[in-house]
Amino acid sequence: MSSLAFPSQQIGDFTITAISDGYLHASFDFLANIDPTDASRMQEDAGIRDHTSIHINGYLVRGGGHTVLIDAGAGGFKQWGGRLKTNLRLAGIQPCEIDAILLTHAHPDHVGGLIDASGEAVFPNAELVAHHREVSFWQDDGNLSRAPERSRGNFLLARQAFDSYRAKLREFEDGEVLPGITAMPLPGHTAGHTGYRLDSGDKSLLVWGDIVHFPQIQIPRPDVSIAFDQDAHLAAETRTRLLDCVATEHLLIAGMHLGEPGFARIRRTGDTYAVAYEKCT
Ligand SMILES: [Zn+2]
Repeated sequence: MSSLAFPSQQIGDFTITAISDGYLHASFDFLANIDPTDASRMQEDAGIRDHTSIHINGYLVRGGGHTVLIDAGAGGFKQWGGRLKTNLRLAGIQPCEIDAILLTHAHPDHVGGLIDASGEAVFPNAELVAHHREVSFWQDDGNLSRAPERSRGNFLLARQAFDSYRAKLREFEDGEVLPGITAMPLPGHTAGHTGYRLDSGDKSLLVWGDIVHFPQIQIPRPDVSIAFDQDAHLAAETRTRLLDCVATEHLLIAGMHLGEPGFARIRRTGDTYAVAYEKCT
């Protein structure tokens, strides 16, 4: 199978490919500011059958002398996802070929795939690149001790992932993280939640991380936040501001929970927004 089987976009010298990790499920009880019945109706109207399933993507970026992965999927943590490594191979890439991993943040469905069952790095030649606030947050023992029991596992997994890449961990503040790839802090979902903007030739793309988990709900209703957002108010504010920016710029976007098509643009409709999935090359 060639990489043509996976949704891809050409952004100047970069080829970016959506690599599916599979799915996780989240109850609508995790959503704030919306009745679960209304959430179901929005999914139904959008033609989504499994209303509470959340698709997980990682993105492979080739070009500029690098082979980069943006986020690594859940790796089967809590039986979420786990297909990214196989799909990467089907796209023609072996784990040892990845030379950098850019993290949008360190939740389990983004870092679980960085390590195998014995805690070893899955991508032995990759540097791990993340916002310094994200690394600090998960390493902080005070944050761990204040965390509810149900999210302690998230801390342990994030720490294990950082430890496995300790010798090649690179933390940044902002700015260009690799040639042509610029970090865009998008705080709220987590402390160091970061998007990555690719600019090459006259083309651009923003990988916006977890700005939405249910695109057909949260793009028309940016005020709807999810319990996974560390700061629900700030996450909604960031989402609303970013939707305005990307709609105005007509910017191509990619997102870890944008759905299997992997790429979209945001249209303004009246006083809100809609997602328009992009045809892939
Ligand atoms: Zn996520």
